[in-house]
Amino acid sequence: MISPETIEANRVHLESVKKRLKGVLDNFDKKNNISEPAKEFGEKGNAYNQKWVANEGNKATNKLLEDTEAALRRIQEGSYGVCVDCLKEINVDRLVARPEASRCVGCQTAKGLHVR
Ligand SMILES: [Zn+2]
Repeated sequence: MISPETIEANRVHLESVKKRLKGVLDNFDKKNNISEPAKEFGEKGNAYNQKWVANEGNKATNKLLEDTEAALRRIQEGSYGVCVDCLKEINVDRLVARPEASRCVGCQTAKGLHVR
């Protein structure tokens, strides 16, 4: 059972992560919003690929922000620490290592998702 102290510590952590991610996204140049890597090589292709890499990073940041906000919502609703799929408690060590986790390791693995 996850203790209220751990939930509070994770809430504080998630709030700070959320703030940081929002800052990163605010600084992201919307012009970099492209969806596939360069088909051409050479200098032009390289510049384009750099933008693409930045864009992929931005998508990952967006996803993490979503997960972070969802975790904060679950804390508010009182469902934090419970797997969204099987409704079993998520291992506390996992939640400490990854406060935004919404699934237990079993469900995360079953979904074929990368367990971070
Ligand atoms: Zn589960």
